[in-house]
Amino acid sequence: MNPYELSIAQARTELDNGTLSSRDLTRSCLDRIKSVDGRIQSFLLVTEEEALQQAESADKQIAAGNVAALCGIPLAMKDLLCTEGVTTSCGSKILENFVPPYDATVIEKLKNQGAVLLGKTSMDEFAMGSTSENCAFAVPDNPWKAGYVAGGSSGGSASAVAAMECLGSLGSDTGGSIRQPASLCGIVGIKPTYGRVSRYGLVAFASSLDQIGPMSRDVTDAAIMMNAISGYDPRDSTSVQQSVPDFTASLKKGMEGIRVGIPAEYFTAGLDSEVAGVVENGVQILKDAGAEIVDIRLPHTEYCVAVYYLIAPAEASSNLARYDGVAYGMRSEDASSLENMYRESRSAGFGDEVKRRILIGTYALSSGYYDAYYKKASQVRTLILQDFQKAYESCDVIISPVTPTPSWKKGAHSGDPLSLYLSDILTISANLAGIPGISVPGGFSKDGLPVGIQLQAAHFREDTLLQAAYNLELGTGLANKCPEL
Ligand code: GLN
Repeated sequence: MNPYELSIAQARTELDNGTLSSRDLTRSCLDRIKSVDGRIQSFLLVTEEEALQQAESADKQIAAGNVAALCGIPLAMKDLLCTEGVTTSCGSKILENFVPPYDATVIEKLKNQGAVLLGKTSMDEFAMGSTSENCAFAVPDNPWKAGYVAGGSSGGSASAVAAMECLGSLGSDTGGSIRQPASLCGIVGIKPTYGRVSRYGLVAFASSLDQIGPMSRDVTDAAIMMNAISGYDPRDSTSVQQSVPDFTASLKKGMEGIRVGIPAEYFTAGLDSEVAGVVENGVQILKDAGAEIVDIRLPHTEYCVAVYYLIAPAEASSNLARYDGVAYGMRSEDASSLENMYRESRSAGFGDEVKRRILIGTYALSSGYYDAYYKKASQVRTLILQDFQKAYESCDVIISPVTPTPSWKKGAHSGDPLSLYLSDILTISANLAGIPGISVPGGFSKDGLPVGIQLQAAHFREDTLLQAAYNLELGTGLANKCPEL
């Protein structure tokens, strides 16, 4: 077995036993990147030298008794997490040469544990998209099938884990961007409760929806990474002062006494029959493990896409107003006036999808339309939240598909953004409600493409979420799987 094939938990044992050094493990991942990333294109930047230095330091720390769970573990970061001294492009030309002077809180936490950071992964520009094709630079390929999308917007973080270029990665999820690529690439991806993980140093897309979360080869590793990144941060006013349990503690508790809800609204027209079959098998696995299966209703599901595609662009238009070419980012050099400089810099720096969202968002917030669009969407958002609160009176976790279909060919939706927006229907409600959700590998389509199963739980019940996910993983036997590359 090559070191890069180890899960985080397995590598931890070897590092602590002294049968493997972080240096060798890191080298193994770097070699793997060299051999497969030409095709997979997960990485926008590989920080080889820094990674090897961090690995050497980790080996010293381990020898000196550092027992942090991620000490010496090579990980990859979505390129919207600020990394001190290391370019953070957000997949955008406007930030192509942006080198942050500070680390995001999650990066700081990983560094404090002694983790090894291999580099920055490809993503849709400013996290807007579902295929990573909106990246201004390299577009990742699905490790399971050449020419197919890895999903998005955290596509590179997903393909890097699936292709075993790293042991785990961080992504961000505003409307499904961790769970959807995890599902399409056959790995685990968890979006924590809003407020669980600090957003300080995460380049903002839609601030009331964004959450950072782990992407990993199995559920245990997801729990280990959750332990490392969760917790209150005074630098993020929306992070919550709530105690953080040991997320690995609940994994092996079985399913006895856990009620699993099936939402009728998530199994409607447009759902691929193979995807439906995979989820039905997941239900059976949890039932066999002792769960009680109940029917639930989420009646406002049909409004999720409309609500999300008003609120997210509205927040984005406000957040992206800061890219004016003055303080940082790309600046047009030949502008004749200040206003012209703003216009030229933004026109040249932003890609089409980002411009489209800025237009929608600015319109939705403009005087005269605010009440009809933004305000109305915010009110329906409350109804969506109430659907979940009601549902969690009769169940502990909700099971559903993650995406209506498995991965598709690159370019299949180009020129038709609306069809991609519609495919977000099963993931965006968790962001609107602020609840945690996870995608766990469920099976494969007859074409050999991975299909994930989504579980969602009540606010701050990632413990129950991971417990159910672990039982699902036991039943499918799909932990730590990698295609032939
Ligand atoms: N696909 C969704 C969008 O395009 C979600 C993106 C995300 O979660 N960052 O907005």
